[in-house]
Amino acid sequence: MTESTFKLTYATMFNPPEELHRRYEDTLRNKKAQLGKNYGMIINGKERYSAEVFENRNPANTDEVLGVFQKGTRQDVEDAVQSAKTAQIKWKRIPWQERVAIIRKAADNIDKRIYELAVALSLEVGKNRMEALGDAAESADLMRYACDQMEANDGFIHRMGKDPLAGYDATNISMMLPYGVWLVISPFNFPCALTGGPAGAALVTGNSVIIKPASDTPWAPRIYVECLLEAGVPEGVVNYITGSGSEVGQTLVEHPFIDGITFTGSYDVGMRIYRSFSQWIYIRPVIMELGGKNAAIVSKNADLETAAIGIMRSAFGLQGQKCSACSRVFIEEEVYDDLVNLLVTLAEKITVGDPTRREIYMGPVINRNSYQDYQNYIDDLRKSGRILTGAKVFTEGDYAKGFFCAPTFVADLPLTHPLWQQEMFLPITTIAKVDSLDQAMTYTNQVKYGLTGGFYGTEEEAAWFFDNIEAGVVYANRPQGATTGAWPGFQPFGGWKASGATGKQAGGLNYLQQYMREQSRTLIRRIS
Ligand code: NAP
Repeated sequence: MTESTFKLTYATMFNPPEELHRRYEDTLRNKKAQLGKNYGMIINGKERYSAEVFENRNPANTDEVLGVFQKGTRQDVEDAVQSAKTAQIKWKRIPWQERVAIIRKAADNIDKRIYELAVALSLEVGKNRMEALGDAAESADLMRYACDQMEANDGFIHRMGKDPLAGYDATNISMMLPYGVWLVISPFNFPCALTGGPAGAALVTGNSVIIKPASDTPWAPRIYVECLLEAGVPEGVVNYITGSGSEVGQTLVEHPFIDGITFTGSYDVGMRIYRSFSQWIYIRPVIMELGGKNAAIVSKNADLETAAIGIMRSAFGLQGQKCSACSRVFIEEEVYDDLVNLLVTLAEKITVGDPTRREIYMGPVINRNSYQDYQNYIDDLRKSGRILTGAKVFTEGDYAKGFFCAPTFVADLPLTHPLWQQEMFLPITTIAKVDSLDQAMTYTNQVKYGLTGGFYGTEEEAAWFFDNIEAGVVYANRPQGATTGAWPGFQPFGGWKASGATGKQAGGLNYLQQYMREQSRTLIRRIS
């Protein structure tokens, strides 16, 4: 396998070509020599600096300052919104084919800078190198998928039927048109894909965009914005503004010129934004991608080796900090002991440490709050359940300056315990024995979330699972990941219930239309 024949996705990432490692390591060396730069915001195509700044530190080594970023002000918000509003008027008039060409070029720019993006993602998020490369590659593929959808739908301009009018000729056209200024607020765990996917969709459909990244991870989104500008996205059509969610983010949400929002993040913040954005004289679109509490169900007929590897990968990939992470497992009693043994064996082989190192599977958790949450949850789980493995933080030697937590499986937690319901967003997964698949399904659906789900068993049982689970992205018999690893064009990704707002999933057939509104145009000509 060479790099040129290798297609990176979350399902293929386990055995990459050697060249990919070499190029990642070369870029890492290079970037490490230049850490700590001061990065501006980008408003109307210009760098913008603030009186107040914040540091972006490496969660694997908090002594390392990766970069210094700006605390945006109300004035910065105002200027970003005004420039986006002005610039959008020209952008929407550019033929859609030209917008497609620019966004495709931006996707190519991401590919060209993929190692730089991956290094930034490893250092600021704590992603291992393959997860980091995957995040960057996914953002490019999400943008390409949006371009493909524009083409497949002829720019969403369709000639409709002629109404049967005697003496007149009718031209009826349905056009999908952009809303205007679109706000993209992204989370820390996929700073590139979950900025690039929504922003790419908003831009190719003719909206202008304001990007507000998570404060823990502003670096990769900044490189992403450079890729857009270098591709020819005009000044003001894309703006990048940094600062805290509760100040800069909230000020943006409350601005009357914001025409639509894509928010990806936690349920609590998402609901607050949803309610706040609805305080207006008319209804504006809001796309929400929120949390998860994803379960895997294992039948007595399952291939247990496949189930174990799939569950382990989804429970502990990115330290359990994926919205799609497998945080609950329900196992039929006949195979419970055997599968638990396999899971514990696999978890104990997981390497934890500096995520830029080739052999490391799990890096640090994102910040001190998450590190403290892990320890608090473990204290509670120790009292209420039975720790099967993990349940410790690493503090010695190379671990001393980072937020390193052990992958943890917990059994015998009463099913009434609140941690069966709450998204912990950490490398902690709870496991329960069930009498039947029906019982497993009842527990699976008994949470407010409905993002992803996994199943291991016969194909007949899998059909039953697909029919009954209340979740947007569901997999059966998948060793690459029980509940994680969707890729644009292959698995449309989005949540039901408290995990999402619109039921139309990213990287799928129904997503792009959400960034446009329909205008029905009728022109009448008298013919007699
Ligand atoms: P978060 O705390 O909700 O923050 C998400 C974003 O919202 C950040 O950019 C944050 O900025 C901003 N923000 C916070 N308060 C705001 C406000 N009042 N107004 C406007 N913006 C505000 O989430 P996170 O910890 O970064 O990400 C983890 C969560 O995202 C998990 O719940 C996970 O399940 C979810 N997620 C869902 C999906 C999906 O596709 N369904 C994908 C990935 C992640 P600051 O960082 O400056 O506070």
